[in-house]
Formats: sequence, C-alpha cells, structure tokens
Amino acid sequence: MKDYFYYQDRQFYAEQVSLTELAQNYGTPCHVYSRAALTDGYNQFAQALQGTEHLVCYAVKANPNLAILNIFARLGAGFDIVSGGELQRVLAAGGVAQKVVFSGVGKTEAEMRLALQAGILCFNVESAAELERLNRVAGEMGKVAPISLRVNPDVDAKTHPYISTGLKQNKFGVAYGDALALYQRARDLPNLQITGIDCHIGSQLTELSPFVAAIEKILVLVDALAAAGIRLAHIDLGGGLGIRYHDETPPSIAAYVAALQGALQGRTEKLLLEPGRVLVGNAGLMLSRVEYLKHGEEKNFAILDCAMNDLMRPALYDAYHEILPLSQENHPLDTYEVVGPICETGDFIGHARELAIAPMSLLAVLSTGAYGMSMSSNYNTRPRAAEVMVDGDAVHLVRERETIAQLYAAENLLC
Ligand SMILES: *Cc1c(COP(=O)(O)O)cnc(C)c1O
Repeated sequence: MKDYFYYQDRQFYAEQVSLTELAQNYGTPCHVYSRAALTDGYNQFAQALQGTEHLVCYAVKANPNLAILNIFARLGAGFDIVSGGELQRVLAAGGVAQKVVFSGVGKTEAEMRLALQAGILCFNVESAAELERLNRVAGEMGKVAPISLRVNPDVDAKTHPYISTGLKQNKFGVAYGDALALYQRARDLPNLQITGIDCHIGSQLTELSPFVAAIEKILVLVDALAAAGIRLAHIDLGGGLGIRYHDETPPSIAAYVAALQGALQGRTEKLLLEPGRVLVGNAGLMLSRVEYLKHGEEKNFAILDCAMNDLMRPALYDAYHEILPLSQENHPLDTYEVVGPICETGDFIGHARELAIAPMSLLAVLSTGAYGMSMSSNYNTRPRAAEVMVDGDAVHLVRERETIAQLYAAENLLC
C-alpha cells in the first residue's frame, strides 16, 4: 500500500498531493491518510471473500477518526468496537449498529445498555462473569443479547509479547477447556441468544500458521457444540494480520484469506473478520519538522517537532517506523538518533537512521495509520496533531489540531 506514497522529482507525494505543500498548509506534526489506500485495503478483503458469506468488521481502535470510519461504512464494512465510545463514533460516522461486534474484557453495564439499545450484531463475551452480567442487564431492558464467546485457543502468535493475546496466560477470552460448559450455561440464560464464536490471537502476525492452528482448535469446539445441540450462525476469526514496517514479509490479504478458507474446510457459518492494522497502518504517515540537529560526543541527534505523545509505538514496543525526507536535498548524510522534545529517554522515533537533512527539514514517518493517532496523548501539554485525508488531488482536514485552551478547558481552580 506504500505505492500511494511515492517520490517524483525528489519530492514526496501522497496520491497527487505534494506533502511539502501539505505540511506548509496544515503545519506539523500532522497525520496524513490516503483514501485510495484505505479503499484498496478494504477491497482486497471484499474481493478475496467473494462467494463466502462474510462481514469485515474494521477494528475501530486502530484508527477511530470519523472520516476513516465513514469511508469503511460506505464500502459496506462492519465494525469491531472495544468501548461504548467507539460505538458512538461508529454511529456518528454513518455506520450501522447491526454490523457491530463488541469485544473487550471489561464491558461496563452502561456500555452494555448502550449497545443493547443500539441493537448491535454481537457481544463477544470474554468471561463467565460478563455472561451473567449481560444476561441481567438485557433482562432489565426487556431485550435479548446476541452473544459469541471469545475463546482463547492457547496458540503462540509469535509476535511482540505486548500484542500477543491468545496464550493461556493472557487476560483475553475464556479458557478453551471452559468454553463448552459456558456455552451450555449461556443457552440456559433467558436473555442471551448464542449466535457465534470468536477468537483473536494477537496483532502484527507475519506468519499464517498461528491463524491456522487457532482455526483448527475452534472447529473442534464448533463440532462439540453442534453435538450438544448448539448451532452457530457465525465464526469470527478476529484480526491481527501484520504489515510491513521495515523488513517484515507478512502474507498478502489474499493469501491470508485463502489460508483461513483452507482451514475452514467449507464451513457454512458466516465468516467474520476484525482487521485493524492491515487496513490502515500503511495508509497513513506522519509529517514532522526537524527543529534542531545536535551533534553529541557519541551520537548525533535529530530533534523533531513530533514525539512519543504523537506516536507511542517506538517507546512502547521498540517498534520500527521508516523515516524519509519530504524533499531529497544534497545535505550531508549522517547517522542520527531521531527523537522528540519530550523529557523521557524513551521519547524516540528511530535509532541510528541515515538521513540527509538540515534544521527545518520536513520528514515523513511512515506506517503510522494504525495505533498512531489512536494511542496519542497530551503528555507535556502537547496538543494532538492535525489529521488530513488526501483523496486524489483533494485534501480534507479530518481533525483540527488541538489548541492549548482545549487541553485544560475541563480543569478547575480551587474556589
Ligand atoms: C485490536 C483488536 C483487533 C484488531 O487487531 P489488528 O492487529 O489491528 O488487526 C481485532 N479484534 C480484537 C478483539 C482486538 O482487540
């Protein structure tokens, strides 16, 4: 998907828009998304799944900007949400509740009520206690809650430990060995309706074998449920497909879907998927300006105007993001620690990067469309960056840069 961002005459472009001009018009730091890249990703799923009854539920937490949700809603997507707030975003963006699945280990009663009132497709229930609570809340509202159990298949996703979710020791889902008994309990609860099963084993997976291993275990359970008289309408295989940040070689969306379909062996239940990162990660980048170059005794530093509050992944997971100049100039090539202005040693964007830059140079930090803006904060009283959507030669400001006044508007002095 990086082809939507390219050099022409030593200038970096997003679709048909010069990113230098965009940075001058909208300021930095600034997140930039490509509508064509977003659409292409979704269409790759739709095409691969042609002929299979399916619903692609975009995982909102990867990037919840309303414009992005709206693009996916118009393409026919459903949504995977993890909070009541995300449900409200989906509805505000023109998504329909009937295509929403609700994941997460800590759903509050208020969130359950909101989702029941809206009429979502399914609650992905993650514990016995949640099952009981949901039954009670639905009963109080005179409603029946559609549910699936998120089963933990205990497979190793072979990804970063912070984003591995399908192992026994993780907090997610119900234990594989408990699932059958919990489904039988759910069948006995009057205000629940069993509609499916789901699993989500982790994020940024670059191999297919863990997905296949999870499906094989899920299917054993689906058969055991059928033998117990519990028939499911859908199988939800979660998200987690990885993208290329640096030198990873993740499978294509087509290869991923083919592997899932192979493992599913012609099952007729509707197939639900919850991709996040793979739909948005490489459809976005972040523009930043070099404030200072600082030549230290051991290392050179490029100090940018973006920081860990704008992009947390390097500090959190030691994640790699490619960094490129918006204009290829003949500045001296040097090796830099690329850092932000925040008072934390963990505030870095990249280590030991070879860059031909000067003070005030404009840069692009690539692959920031997923878990970039959505994990951003106001640490150091830094306003969140602007977000811009490029569409051909058109540019839309899809989120204004925050103002300092907004940051403390809800705070009060002692009276
Ligand atoms: C985060 C999450 C996803 C999306 O994961 P990606 O790695 O971004 O595809 C899907 N389902 C659930 C339950 C999640 O928590």
